[in-house]
Amino acid sequence: MNDQFGHLIGDEVLNQVAERLRSLVEPGDIVARVGGDEFAIILIGEAASKRARSLAQKVTERLGEPFPAGQVVAYCGATVGIVLAPDDATTTSELRQCADLALYRAKERGRGSICCFDPRMDEASRDRRTLEGDLRTAVANGDVKLVYQPILSALTGEITSVEALARWSHPKKGPIPPDIFIPLAEECGLIGTLGEALLRLACSDAVWWPSSVRVAVNLSPLQFQAGDLSATVRSVLQDTGLAAERLQLEVTEGLVIRDVDRTFAELERLRALGIQILMDDFGVGYSSLSYFQRFPFDKVKIDKSFVDHITTSRASRAIVQAVVGLGEQLGMGIVAEGVETEEQMHALVAAGCTHLQGYLFSKPLTTTEMDERLSALLNDGVDRAGRRSARAA
Ligand code: C2E
Ligand code: CA
Ligand code: CA
Repeated sequence: MNDQFGHLIGDEVLNQVAERLRSLVEPGDIVARVGGDEFAIILIGEAASKRARSLAQKVTERLGEPFPAGQVVAYCGATVGIVLAPDDATTTSELRQCADLALYRAKERGRGSICCFDPRMDEASRDRRTLEGDLRTAVANGDVKLVYQPILSALTGEITSVEALARWSHPKKGPIPPDIFIPLAEECGLIGTLGEALLRLACSDAVWWPSSVRVAVNLSPLQFQAGDLSATVRSVLQDTGLAAERLQLEVTEGLVIRDVDRTFAELERLRALGIQILMDDFGVGYSSLSYFQRFPFDKVKIDKSFVDHITTSRASRAIVQAVVGLGEQLGMGIVAEGVETEEQMHALVAAGCTHLQGYLFSKPLTTTEMDERLSALLNDGVDRAGRRSARAA
């Protein structure tokens, strides 16, 4: 609210929140502001546990109503975590920790949610902290690796690029999916370091592949928030010797939600280096066609969920068709991802997709497997894998 309306309005809303909370509690209850936008209410007495739920309900309702402040009307809403003493914990710090865990869970469920503490949350949070520590170690030791999945031209069937996908095999738990450890890295502030390490790895692998093959690296929206991404990318290209034209960066729609201007400015700088920018997972989440008005993406990747149903659903077919039309008008390539069957492939090619990726053509391959697969494309007769290991030695 401070960002949107300024501090004066922010302060005014805080005051109104305090008034509303006070109006909901009974004499003897305690209301306090314990953080920037966090409030605590302490209920004392026999019926406290029963009262807590109904009060929480009233709080979310009351704070969900608009806040007229100055010239504007602000909306904020609330999320509630509930903890009981002495059942859940007895000391102040433990109680606050448990309340935080309950609040955290409620926030995951979405604004307006209410959640009571449950001992299993404590366990889950301990497991998470352990996994976080293990990931930190793995990142520091370079144990997060990359595999590469080919992307083919729909016209010629040749490999035009490969997508780098992160892999982490936990020493005890075995492989952890990137859908788990990438968000974890984002939450614990590791994504900057991890993202740069993976970019470096992908570029240094790609230098050994035929120059007709590009490498696509996934970027987390958070990598745009921290520091100077284009400077990082530039130095990685310089260090590895990969031509900027051979690098593609895949960004998701979620990227643009926060600081829109800054994000697009950064994308412009990256594109000015000669790098291709791809819109990933298009059509799911916060898709906005206006992104295409703001930025000339080089390619759009149609999400697997549309590809899955292209042979059975008229809606999926229509959506793919519409995205292809958009691509043709704007000069963007259209990549269909997650292609698993011949029927899907035929439908996608008929619809006009320019590139295809999926298990039908290849699963993600290790660097060595990729070296072998691509060596057929090389006509200089040199064994790249051999040269790579010679260089590494
Ligand atoms: P994504 O970028 O959409 O990557 C495509 C995912 O689809 C990959 O899963 C890939 O293995 C899988 N896939 C490809 N073809 C098929 C198919 O035919 N069938 C099926 N069922 N799946 C297919 P993966 O490797 O598990 O990655 C999951 C997600 O994790 C990625 O989705 C991406 O969002 C994220 N991710 C992976 N590596 C990185 C990374 O290095 N950085 C960042 N920021 N995110 C990454
Ligand atoms: Ca991707
Ligand atoms: Ca994708």
